Amino acid sequence: MKYIFVTGGVVSSLGKGLAAASIGTLLEHRGLKVLMQKFDPYLNVDPGSMSPYQHGEVYVLDDGAETDLDLGHYERFTSAVLSRINNLTSGQVFDAVIKKERRGEYLGKTVQFIPHVTDEIKGRIHQVTESHPDVDVLITEIGGTVGDMEGLLFLEALRQFALEVGKEHVCFIHVTLLPYIKAAGEVKTKPTQQSVAKLREIGIQPDIIICRTEADLDEDNRKKIAMFCNVDRKHVVAFRDVAHTIYECPLDLRRDKIDRLVVDKLGLGHTPTPALEDWEHFVQRVIHPKHKVTIAVAGKYTELQDAYKSIYESLIHAGAHHDTKVQIVRVDTEAVEDDGARAVIGEVDGILVPGGFGDRGTEGKILAAKYARENKIPYFGICLGMQIATIEFARNVCGLKDANSTEFDKSTPHPVICLQEEQKGIQDMGATMRLGSCESIVLAGTKTAELYDHKDHIKERHRHRYELNPDYHERLQQAGMVISAVSAKEGLVEIIELPDHPFFIGSQFHPEFQSKPNFPHPLFAGFVMAALDHAHHNG
Ligand code: GLN
Repeated sequence: MKYIFVTGGVVSSLGKGLAAASIGTLLEHRGLKVLMQKFDPYLNVDPGSMSPYQHGEVYVLDDGAETDLDLGHYERFTSAVLSRINNLTSGQVFDAVIKKERRGEYLGKTVQFIPHVTDEIKGRIHQVTESHPDVDVLITEIGGTVGDMEGLLFLEALRQFALEVGKEHVCFIHVTLLPYIKAAGEVKTKPTQQSVAKLREIGIQPDIIICRTEADLDEDNRKKIAMFCNVDRKHVVAFRDVAHTIYECPLDLRRDKIDRLVVDKLGLGHTPTPALEDWEHFVQRVIHPKHKVTIAVAGKYTELQDAYKSIYESLIHAGAHHDTKVQIVRVDTEAVEDDGARAVIGEVDGILVPGGFGDRGTEGKILAAKYARENKIPYFGICLGMQIATIEFARNVCGLKDANSTEFDKSTPHPVICLQEEQKGIQDMGATMRLGSCESIVLAGTKTAELYDHKDHIKERHRHRYELNPDYHERLQQAGMVISAVSAKEGLVEIIELPDHPFFIGSQFHPEFQSKPNFPHPLFAGFVMAALDHAHHNG
């Protein structure tokens, strides 16, 4: 087993997660089996209870773990199968240490940051590798920036870890920023030097330095960084701003042969230089599509780039599959409440209502769903978006006045969306939703069945509390709604569709967590196809 540790310096948002994921892509294409993991130094046990404003999207794994959105990059860029042990936070570390102390497991010793907390961190790395004995390389990204007090214990643990397993099995990669000072017309290396100095102070000498640059990295700067940071010149790798899509990142990092450097450092022998044809082909289709569609995403956090990350990525995957650029229009549903759907959304080829919590903007989402249904605009509702479509249909087609979800209106006369019995008594907010992958049965002869290639069983990931109320199934069905998939275990509604519409589908689960480049999710692929048809007929 070999280990790569990816740290970051100078500033956050450097694309450290993408760099780690891209190294994963390149190593996999060399035929190595890769696993990925993220350490997050914050004190929350998981990001499940954090606001999207703080944290962006919460990415859900098969086992129901609510994790950092970088794990989404890892799953999209590699074929690694991730579970809750692949995302460790300080919250989890301290929780474990304190529980052990209460159980008396430290046998009367004084419990200290070193060794008890650092042992806990190292223990997690061993736990991950032991549960995946077939893996060649474990890539661990450390969240935050070197120099933060929060990250110190993680870095100290890694320093110890490298010493214990042998430095020849470990590769430290530090991602930094080379700012360009416009007035001077110069790229500056000093922040990089200082950040590496900070890392060396902790006892970690990076083997490779990845420099984020707007422009190119010239020879002089490369030499300078090499000299002051104590690495070979070839080990200073440029990571340029990619022009079109994040999927160019592995191709960019390959230019300075990062995968070769890693393989050599770790003594991984003669693995073939990756061809990456499938990846290049995908990138080409993203960059030079033949067609174009416009999709309105009508959600609460539309101004936040990261809040619906996996949805935007899934639209890119589905778009590439159909040789189509998906132009996204972000719609503020509170504006829809004020000015109406036609005025705010206008002419689009599809409307997507993403997941969400709380009632702000929900009436606007209901108007957006109505607009899509009545005007035969393709509609795709995800989780909350499916519940919204159900409320709209109940109110305006079934004539159930004031139908609503009990999440938004506790005293609605028609709770078409409500809590299941087992959710009712729950007090804790963290990790108490219906979470993770579960199996559903697809109804034959439906649009859903067609999209899933007539599979009768599917597995999708969930993150929600509320469900379509079984008391209303019949009334909705009588009015023309089709329940096209139900959960295998409890018979809960998983997918709804309207057959007399070109594409009107809502899924209670989150399909966006299972879409990859070259393997678009069938529901996204179907939605973009329908949008393309809409564009052809209307343009
Ligand atoms: N708020 C809704 C629920 O809890 C939808 C959740 C979501 O969209 N992820 O059921």
